[in-house]
Parts: sequence; C-alpha cells; structure tokens
Amino acid sequence: MARDAVTPPECRLDDESERSGTLALSGLQIFKLLPKTNCKDCGFPTCMAFAMQLASGKAELSQCPHISAEAAAELGEAAAPPVRKVTIGAGDMALVLGEETVLYRHEKRFEHPPGIAILIDDSVDDTAFRLAVDTMKAQEFERVGQVLRAKLFAIESADAAKLAARVKTASDESGAGIVIMSEDPAALKTAAEPIKDRKPLLYAATTATFDAVSAAAKELAVPFAIKAATLDELAELGERCVAGDFKEVVLDPMSANLQDAVRDQTYIRRAAIKKKLRPLGFPTIAFPCKMTGDAMLKSVFAGVFVAKYAGVIVIDTLDPAQVMPLLVLAQNIYTDPQRPMQMDQGIYPINDPTPDSPLLITTNFSLTYFTVAGEIEASKVPTWLLVMDTEGQSVLTSWAAGKFVADAIAVFVKKSGIEEKVNHRKIVIPGYVAQISGELEEELDGWEVTVGVREAADVPRYLRGL
Ligand code: SF4
Repeated sequence: MARDAVTPPECRLDDESERSGTLALSGLQIFKLLPKTNCKDCGFPTCMAFAMQLASGKAELSQCPHISAEAAAELGEAAAPPVRKVTIGAGDMALVLGEETVLYRHEKRFEHPPGIAILIDDSVDDTAFRLAVDTMKAQEFERVGQVLRAKLFAIESADAAKLAARVKTASDESGAGIVIMSEDPAALKTAAEPIKDRKPLLYAATTATFDAVSAAAKELAVPFAIKAATLDELAELGERCVAGDFKEVVLDPMSANLQDAVRDQTYIRRAAIKKKLRPLGFPTIAFPCKMTGDAMLKSVFAGVFVAKYAGVIVIDTLDPAQVMPLLVLAQNIYTDPQRPMQMDQGIYPINDPTPDSPLLITTNFSLTYFTVAGEIEASKVPTWLLVMDTEGQSVLTSWAAGKFVADAIAVFVKKSGIEEKVNHRKIVIPGYVAQISGELEEELDGWEVTVGVREAADVPRYLRGL
C-alpha cells in the first residue's frame, strides 16, 4: 500500500506511546542553550523548568526574552510547530493556518480554524461572479461577540487572461484572500503578480510542475500548494519543499471520496504531530464541493473537514444556510477548551433602561450572555442585565461549581453599583437556579428575588408580562 510507506508502523492510529507536540530536543539539550539566569521573566521559576516545559510543547520559545540570537536560531527549527504556519490573504481577511501542536483538542487546543473558500470556476458566468464578489464583501455573521465569515475565493480557469482578470477583481473588490487555481505555472504567476502583497495561494504544484510553481512562489513571496494522488507522492513533494526551505506550503492529498479523505487528513496530521515528519508538516486544502453533486452532502463533507483536519475548505456556494453552520462548527471546535469565551463582569443596559426598568442577572459565559441579551433586545423591553464573573461557566455549571450561589451573588450585586442605577430592589434570577431564591433573599437584605424563566427563548414573553 502506498500509504504505508509514509506511515511508519510506530505512527499508526493505535500508537499512543508518544506525546504529541513535543520538541525533537530534550529538556537538558534546550537548557544548555538558555541564559541560565533564572530570572523568571518567562513565567517559570528556573531556566530548567522552562526548558522542560518547552521540550514537552507546553511553553513557547518566545516566552524567554533573553535568549541569544544564536540559541534562538538553533532552537528555532526544533521549536517550530509540527504544522507550519501559512498565511493567505492580508489585512482583516488574512487567514492564518497551521501552528497546530496536538492531535486532539482536549490535549491543549487547536490554534487556527480552517478557512472557507468559495469556488469560482469556468462554470460561473460573469453575472454570478459579480454577485459572488458583492456577497463576499457583505456577508458576515456575528456569534458570541465574534465576527465569522468566509475569507477566501478559490478562482479556477483554463483561460489565463480570464483567470488573471477575475483574481484581480475579486481581490480588489472583496478584499478576500485568493486561491489561484490553474494547471499552468505561467498562468498562476501572471494572475498572482498584481496581488502578490495580499499573499494569494498558488494552487498547485505537481511532480511535473513543482520547479516552475515553487520558483514563482519564491519570486513573488507567496504560499503555494502541492498536490498528488498518493501520500507517497505528496510526501516526496513535501521533501522537496523542506529541501528547498519552502515554509509556506499547503498540502492537497487529492482524496477521491470522504473515506479516503478522513484517512488521508488523519495520516497527514498524525505524521506531522506524532512523528514530526516535516514533509507532511503543513496545513491542508480540501475540496468537498468536487466530491459529490449533492448540495446537502457537500455541506456534510465540508463539516467533516472542519473536524478532520483541513486548513482550507473549498465550497461552491455563499448560501448563508451552508456557510454559517461551517463557521459556527469551526468556532466551536477551535475555542480553547481551557478558556471558555467570557464577557466582562458588569452592568449591561439593554434597550435604554430607566431606573424603573427590570433587572435580570446571569453568568459571564459568552454563549449565555449573547443568547439572553439577544432575547432581551428582541423583546424591546428596556432592561438592566447584571453579568457576574463565573469564569466563563454557564448558569447550571457555575451553580454546581459553587460560583453562582447566593452568598457570591449577594456580594456581587452589592458591589456592582446597580443600586445607584435602579429605584427598585427587585432582581430576577435564572429559572435554572430557582433553589437559591430564598437564600439569596436572606443574603440580599431589602431585595425581592424573583425566579425567571429557564430558557432564554422565553425571556421576551416573560419581560413583556412584568
Ligand atoms: S526568561 Fe529565559 S533566562 Fe529567564 S528564567 Fe526564563 S528561560 Fe531563564
């Protein structure tokens, strides 16, 4: 089997003997290159402690500000993440990929969510192309305080002049990063040249065109993709990238179907993370839009690539019903599991409340806040929302953890400053913590505690009935 050749036995799926994301150097080898002053500026008590953390992938070289240039150069390559960083596009639309150090999210976190690229090929006429450019410009979604959007076009044409014209128009007018797709290295270079400062991705070098495409990428200082029908061939091309010191490379294993795709993506990621196999230590690109003709299946396949482990996912629609779920899925998977997204603790006035407006309290888990605040806004009822710091935990979780409990809430309410903003002393707590209402009323002297609704969706009805 071709894939076995680049998947050494010790790198197989059942191999859990090695920790992922580790440096090739031992802690002692790293320690010898550190300043050995134990100044603690890196956040660790000694240089040795820092070296051990660095060796296990739990610290980053940049945390030591005193390391010499020579030592940094020596450690730099060993400390480079097993999946190289690649940037496509520029400014607000820049898509950063790679720098992944773990195979599973719960080990640490995933670093950079995949980018969604919208395919414009020769089947797309000029009217549809213009519409896509205009839509790309305008289409964005806000969820839990983050703006989500597709950031790339993948523009493909067999006509070099048409390719160059569309690449320029799409880049200039939408600001999106561009994946330039052609079999012809000269056409890739011609199309990329006018927008080279915006870092388009040249797609793609094959065994036959590697020299020409890589030379164009080097001259323009832009990333390029390599593609091959087997992982052996892909690894060979990857070796040529490593030998040529090309760092911004994207891999396309050209998987024929979803089963192959999951296997290929998993092998590539495992080889990079577990074995530090540099030729496969680059982000990947996937084309679910070319794997099936069924629109729904295309979305499902794209969702699989979000989870396993594509860097760029090319789809052929800007239909929000298909784009948004992918972005939300990526947001969920790429949120740091050790740091729940959270809001600042404080008083949030919604719909211009007056001193007589009702007062609700909830926790600072972002998803909770944005859901509750959104429903209050939709109700159009002027309302004060008190948001308490529970380290980003939701209502029930923080109650179970002893953070959203009567005595803590009472202290927070008294210190929050809300007593200067409202004339009344009535507070509505989430229905899920109804059991603390009596105790809270005892703790909050002079306040009346009311149990509100359990589900945010019921908030408008509740507020309008007050
Ligand atoms: S900042 Fe550098 S020199 Fe200071 S303790 Fe950490 S590793 Fe040592």
